[in-house]
Amino acid sequence: MIVVMKSGADPEEIERAKATMIELGYTPHPIEGLLRTVIGAVGDERGKPEDVEALSILNGVEKVIPILPSHKLASREFKPEDTEVNVKGTIVGGNKIPVIAGPCSVESEEQLMEVARAIKEAGATMLRGGAYKPRSSPYAFQGMGVEGLKLLAQAREETGLPIVTEILNIKHLESVLEYADVLQIGARNSQNYALLSEVGKSKKPVLLKRGMSTTIKEFLMCAEYILSEGNEDVMLCERGIRTFETATRNTFDLNAIPVLKERTHLPIVADPSHGTGYWQYVTPMTLASIAAGADGIIIEVHNNPEVAVSDGGQSLKPKKFAELMKKAAVVAKAVGREL
Ligand code: PEP
Ligand code: MN
Repeated sequence: MIVVMKSGADPEEIERAKATMIELGYTPHPIEGLLRTVIGAVGDERGKPEDVEALSILNGVEKVIPILPSHKLASREFKPEDTEVNVKGTIVGGNKIPVIAGPCSVESEEQLMEVARAIKEAGATMLRGGAYKPRSSPYAFQGMGVEGLKLLAQAREETGLPIVTEILNIKHLESVLEYADVLQIGARNSQNYALLSEVGKSKKPVLLKRGMSTTIKEFLMCAEYILSEGNEDVMLCERGIRTFETATRNTFDLNAIPVLKERTHLPIVADPSHGTGYWQYVTPMTLASIAAGADGIIIEVHNNPEVAVSDGGQSLKPKKFAELMKKAAVVAKAVGREL
């Protein structure tokens, strides 16, 4: 259920509405908008008619919307204004489109520093890199672990770029929280509800990737697990889905961008690297993502993709990445945004 307060409702009226929700067995999640306050009521059931009635008659309440609770906090009905996630001063969800770039895996000091300097020089605003890798084969490189996190922190120290890194397992949460500026939840973990709830209890911004067989509706419910624990800084990431097509690694669901923009206030980050799986398609799909309304971009960049331990085939060399940044700035401007 969503309670929309009148614009100009006073704080006492808002408190009264929240207290009534609690008496009725709901947990209130207030959002103060520019014009009015909206209070999401989280409970197990669809708003019962008698509860809707009890809240509708309170002073200062404009209307009560009895919607299904599946992705209430993530919905536009609940919060009409775009959410802006602030990552150490970089805003995701505003007019500017931040670009997150870096290697798939952190491999060595030399590799990470070289890539970090190059992407910074080209205008990227955050550094990505996996220290814990979700590999399809248990025999493949699994990541450098804490050593990788330390290298990311070293790269942040030198470049000033905030770091985005994947949290693969709840048991790593403490160490990842210590180093990361953004917690990435990978496609394979996007429906790991226990992990989603744990990161929801933290205050760190989260980059939640779409699972490879997750519908848009399910994707929003994954985000809801994080939001309902009190962490409002969630960015959704479209990274391609499994289809019958084999010419590309995944089918990059460009449709998801405008659909999500309509249904949720959360910012949408596009990942054309995993979305296509081939470096030569990354630039065109980046430009398409910006044109479609993406609020951020995440791209894999490697100084020597031929010998990368993971995802070399979809990684751009620094020079190609710098060219991409120039083209992306032109498209962003054409659609009224800025890179
Ligand atoms: C990654 O970002 O390197 C990654 C493993 O992505 P995904 O979870 O989308 O496959
Ligand atoms: Mn990767």
